[in-house]
Amino acid sequence: MRCLIVEDDPTLATQLADAMSVGGFVPDIAATGDRGEFLGATEPYDVAVLDLGLPGLPGIEVLTRWRAQGITMPVLILTARGDWTDKVAGFRAGADDYAVKPFRLDEVVLRAQTLVRRAAGHARAVLTAGPLAYDTQLGVITRDGVAQRLTAFETRILGYLMHHPDRVVSRTELSEHLYDAGSDRDFKSIEVVIGRLRRKIGGAMIETRRGEGYVLRSGR
Ligand code: CA
Repeated sequence: MRCLIVEDDPTLATQLADAMSVGGFVPDIAATGDRGEFLGATEPYDVAVLDLGLPGLPGIEVLTRWRAQGITMPVLILTARGDWTDKVAGFRAGADDYAVKPFRLDEVVLRAQTLVRRAAGHARAVLTAGPLAYDTQLGVITRDGVAQRLTAFETRILGYLMHHPDRVVSRTELSEHLYDAGSDRDFKSIEVVIGRLRRKIGGAMIETRRGEGYVLRSGR
C-alpha cells in the first residue's frame, strides 16, 4: 500500500513516513503543495496524508485540484489545533478524515489504514480469504489461525491481494502499489515472491493468469 505524505515540516514528515512504514505502507514525502499535487495526480497512491498549512500551493487547493481531476484516493488532512474552519473547508474540498496537530503518530496510521480498508470496500480490520486472515492493523497474516512467517515484502504483496481477492491483479498494478516513486519496479522479484508465498500458504491459493496477472482465491 502506497501513501503520499504532504508535509513541509521535515521532522514531522520523516516521523510520519517511519510510522506509516511500520504500519505497512510505502511512503513518499512531498514538502510543498505543488510537489504533493503533482505526485498525487500522477502516482497511484492508496491514501494521502495532507497538511493544510503548506508553503506555495495551500493544502485545500491541492485537495480541490485532486478531486477536480477525478482522483478519489482517500485523503486524511492535518489541521492546526482549534482551527475549526480549516476542518470544514477540508471536508468540503473532499477530505475523508482529519487529525489535529499535535497528533499521535499511531493514530494517524490507524486512521489511514481504516480509510484504505473502507476504500476497498472492507469494513473490518481483519480481511479473510479462505484459510487466510490478514490483521491490517498488526500487519500479521495467519493461516488457519497460525501466524505465517512472512517477510515485509511478502506481507505487502499478499496483503494487497487480500484487499482485492477473486480478481486479476496485474504485475503492473502490484508493482505500482508496492514500490515508492523512486525505486525501480521489478517484475522479476514480484514473481519470485509470489513463488515463495505459494510454498508458504499453499500453491492453489494464488493462481497465475498468463499475460494478465494473479488471482487470490478466497473460496467464496
Ligand atoms: Ca505545515
